[in-house]
Amino acid sequence: MDFAFTEEQQMLHQAAAEFCKSDVEPVALKLENTREFPWDLTKRMSEMGFMGLVVPQEYGGVGADYLAYLMVEGELAKTSISLSMTLGAQNSLVGLPIINFATEAQKKKFLPPLAAGEKLGCFALTEPGAGSDPAGMRTTAIRKGDKWVINGTKIYITNGSVAKIAIVWARTGTKPDGKAQITAFLVDRDESPFKTGTIEHKMGVHASPTTELVFEDCEVPADAVLGKEGDGFRVALLTLNTGRLSVATQCLGLAQGAYERAKKFASEREQFGSKIADFQAISFKLADMITEINAARGLVWQAVWLKEQFGLNDPRFISMAAQAKLFASEMAERVTSSAVQIHGGYGYMTEYRVEEFFRAARLMTIVEGTSEIQRLTISRWEMKG
Ligand SMILES: Cc1cc2nc3c(=O)[nH]c(=O)nc-3n(C[C@H](O)[C@H](O)[C@H](O)COP(=O)(O)OP(=O)(O)OC[C@H]3O[C@@H](n4cnc5c(N)ncnc54)[C@H](O)[C@@H]3O)c2cc1C
Repeated sequence: MDFAFTEEQQMLHQAAAEFCKSDVEPVALKLENTREFPWDLTKRMSEMGFMGLVVPQEYGGVGADYLAYLMVEGELAKTSISLSMTLGAQNSLVGLPIINFATEAQKKKFLPPLAAGEKLGCFALTEPGAGSDPAGMRTTAIRKGDKWVINGTKIYITNGSVAKIAIVWARTGTKPDGKAQITAFLVDRDESPFKTGTIEHKMGVHASPTTELVFEDCEVPADAVLGKEGDGFRVALLTLNTGRLSVATQCLGLAQGAYERAKKFASEREQFGSKIADFQAISFKLADMITEINAARGLVWQAVWLKEQFGLNDPRFISMAAQAKLFASEMAERVTSSAVQIHGGYGYMTEYRVEEFFRAARLMTIVEGTSEIQRLTISRWEMKG
């Protein structure tokens, strides 16, 4: 594996680090507490090209490689997981499936506004009765002349209240074996309006809106199908396989951010006449934290390498991406919890922000496939091998 970063990767990473220091860090705590969507910072990220990192230059994006995108996303997560979630939805959950599955006409229509950040995107798969098992979805799309008519409700959609472009999955029929035929649709909200329902009150990640989306006779043109009719599962699964690396990278950022704060605190805080970092109980905790972070990073990089070498369908990539997501998300829980512990009572206060990282980490073993689903995926592919 080549660990030497390209000039572009280093440049983008550096730009993200400087942006976080100058623009994000000063307001990150306020954003978490006021629960406002960070329009200003999103605009700045758009100006810097971050919203179209994975989008090829011919469609107005930066055309960066996948690792460069992850490096930016991880850097943002060190300071604001909410901003990192917005970046992830735009690039990983919406940009990549359009790049991988859309027609040329769809790419020309949807990618430029997405890359410029003029329109935010969202990925609408989950429903009240269908989370880990999307086959149970009840949203339907019925063909009427030259249109599809979508009816149903999606829940827990990141950026649901602010997005103008949605990838929406719906049942479009029944297969000969009786299973649901699912199709993915690219929906432009300005042309085919749908409503924002409940805006959820969450445990953390407060500046990233999570909402219900309600489709009531939402008419989309016949050519809104993303990929082939009936191929929606494949579009969703291949997108989520890559999405796992995006979430795993957010976990690296969260854990690294918490670790750096804990290290600084431990080297300043004195008890019993010594810096607490001089107590072996604390320094060993810090040693375990950084070891776990780097172990998770190794899994993410191996998965990226497999993806670049063998592609999205490769079983080694699919298993390694699930391993990276599983380990990194559970690692982030442990590391952020240790960061709170090292801070003592200060860690329980919002001001030091490690409790915010701890709450955010709790999401990561759930979103884009729970830990149980990652273990199912890994064991299935490993048994085949
Ligand atoms: C903040 C947030 C943001 C989100 N953003 C999005 C988004 O942008 N787009 C989107 O479509 N969705 C989104 N989701 C939804 C998320 O992906 C789902 O919550 C997740 O996939 C789990 O589905 P569920 O909540 O229905 O849980 P369930 O599937 O009901 O699972 C409940 C429990 O049962 C376990 N379980 C289920 N099946 C099995 C099995 N076969 N074997 C063993 N255990 C099993 C699960 O692991 C879990 O522990 C978001 C969720 C949150 C909380």
